Amino acid sequence: MSNVFEKIVAGEIPCQKVLENAQFLAFHDINPVAPVHVLVIPKVCVKDFNAVSPELMAQMSGFILEVVEVLGIKESGYRLITNVGGDGGQEVPHLHFHILGGAKLAWPKLS
Ligand code: 5GP
Repeated sequence: MSNVFEKIVAGEIPCQKVLENAQFLAFHDINPVAPVHVLVIPKVCVKDFNAVSPELMAQMSGFILEVVEVLGIKESGYRLITNVGGDGGQEVPHLHFHILGGAKLAWPKLS
């Protein structure tokens, strides 16, 4: 059974796309917590940050930089988050980075 992000990659669930290449997809989060809230995922199945190869991560870093350029927040600033596992609060078991920006973000106490 594929998860929601695998269904988005397969085109079975629509998304509000920001940028795409052969390896990665960036799209707006369905439940934004900041004025800009975009998710970046690899198209291949990778469960989380623990499982990503350094090579794929290097390419993903370059793609994320392209996304923040497209979003116009590279200079104003942004926050990059990846949740891992239960304590990290990961809901979807497919590696994703949250790009948050568009306003001065709070740094909340998280526990
Ligand atoms: P996590 O908690 O796993 O780090 O983040 C999962 C994120 O995926 C959440 O911010 C949630 O709002 C987002 N999300 C879940 N389902 C969908 C969906 O079908 N479409 C989009 N665009 N975002 C989703």
